[in-house]
Amino acid sequence: MGAPRIAIGSIFTECNQLGGMPIDISWFERYELHYGAAILALPGGVVGGMLQVLHERQAEPIGLLYASTCPGGYLTRDCYRQLKTDLLVRLQAALPVDGVLLPLHGAAAAEDVGDLEGDLIKAVRALVGADVPIVATLDLHAHVTQEMVHFADALVAWETYPHRDAFTTGARGAKLLLDTVEGRCRPTMAMAKVPVLTGGIHGSTEGDDPFAHLMRQTKAAEGYPHVLSTSLFLVHPYLDQPAMGSGPLVITDNDYAQAETIAGELAAAYWARRFELEPVLYTPASALAQGLQISGGPVILVETSDCAGGGAAGDSVATLKALLAANITATAFVPVVDPAAAAQCHTAGLGAPVTVTLGHQLDPRWGEPITVTGQVTHLSDGRFRYVGGIWDNIEGNMGPSVVLTIGAIQVLVTTHSTYDWMDEQWRAVQMDPASATFIVAKNPMNYRQAYGNIAKAIFVLDTPGPTPPTIRHVQYKQLQRPYFPLDEQIENLTPTILKRRR
Ligand SMILES: [Zn+2]
Repeated sequence: MGAPRIAIGSIFTECNQLGGMPIDISWFERYELHYGAAILALPGGVVGGMLQVLHERQAEPIGLLYASTCPGGYLTRDCYRQLKTDLLVRLQAALPVDGVLLPLHGAAAAEDVGDLEGDLIKAVRALVGADVPIVATLDLHAHVTQEMVHFADALVAWETYPHRDAFTTGARGAKLLLDTVEGRCRPTMAMAKVPVLTGGIHGSTEGDDPFAHLMRQTKAAEGYPHVLSTSLFLVHPYLDQPAMGSGPLVITDNDYAQAETIAGELAAAYWARRFELEPVLYTPASALAQGLQISGGPVILVETSDCAGGGAAGDSVATLKALLAANITATAFVPVVDPAAAAQCHTAGLGAPVTVTLGHQLDPRWGEPITVTGQVTHLSDGRFRYVGGIWDNIEGNMGPSVVLTIGAIQVLVTTHSTYDWMDEQWRAVQMDPASATFIVAKNPMNYRQAYGNIAKAIFVLDTPGPTPPTIRHVQYKQLQRPYFPLDEQIENLTPTILKRRR
């Protein structure tokens, strides 16, 4: 056999079905949208890891489509149709291929397709036929479905949160695919799901977090006989789909019983630690009152319910309201996505006093706008470059942005929402987090790496939004009970098994 021909295709984002703004094609154009040979030049990320292994093993990579963007609401019908068609038409033209690599997220949804990845893998399977191996890589926050498990040969997820291992996950996926193509192994897999839905606050894979312990236990099982790969999923709980849950996925070399046994044991361990995954929460007012007792800063106010990285619009002013009400005199940094306010401030110009309506203007389901008067103290085109993570060295784009200074409070008003990795967004507008007494961080995890070394205290806030720190108050339409945390005990619970046997 000559060099195996391996196609690479991707639609990568995370979607929110509780809120957020619909994702259209302009979102992908702002982040990453590459076709054909351009994909083969990607140096890093999940595709970079795949390419390195393909080159080492003299396989021939064929770029189809690589589309990734900051999380949002669902993909519009037109956006998904366009991307899916682009991918499939290029795959059709590339046939015959010996294998397919799909770097996906696993928690994407389109307006009219709830399980985007399942739909995509199924369509790819229909084109390549039953005998061509398909390996997909996933975020460990994927909502893994029966369709995904059934139509792929193997699913391999990130091992880290914060997500540092896109490159190595790509490499693991490519190795497993080539081993399968070359007949060295015959992957068979079982996912065991328990109905545990929690936010990411205690979902770190580092240190003493409950999820870190579970991940280490899961990865240790890669040393068991016949095991090719293990993954552990903490499901993105802001989709609204049937049968959502968390747990392990185990791939063995043609030993299905072993895969199911190990997955079942790890799922039981996950269920046993469920209470540890729920966070302790503060109201903004009580967090501020306690924060003001602390000398120095920064004190991190985690407004995770408005997390752009989980698909929220990023336009909440719930914590800003509390800061204004407290009349604080210490420096506070607050990010708010508000294109209308950003445009008005740009028009007013640097140094100008301005009165704007701010917040809850994109996704008005979660609060009322406020009217504030301040001064425009910085203007920016909103471009920055990520340092690390999934989008390492990729340009982020907040669109026209300003710093609006209201007394001691500095509000970074941006046009577009962007995923938080470290503190790139503040740096882009010359704001130094070390100089702030309070920082509003709109994510459930990456604030730890951004401010962990300088934070004096951290408070996780209970505010309205589509990415709340607990899903206790979410009214799901598709997801049926019982599920934790609403159901703390479930009698005779057995994990739901998703299976793929060759
Ligand atoms: Zn994730």
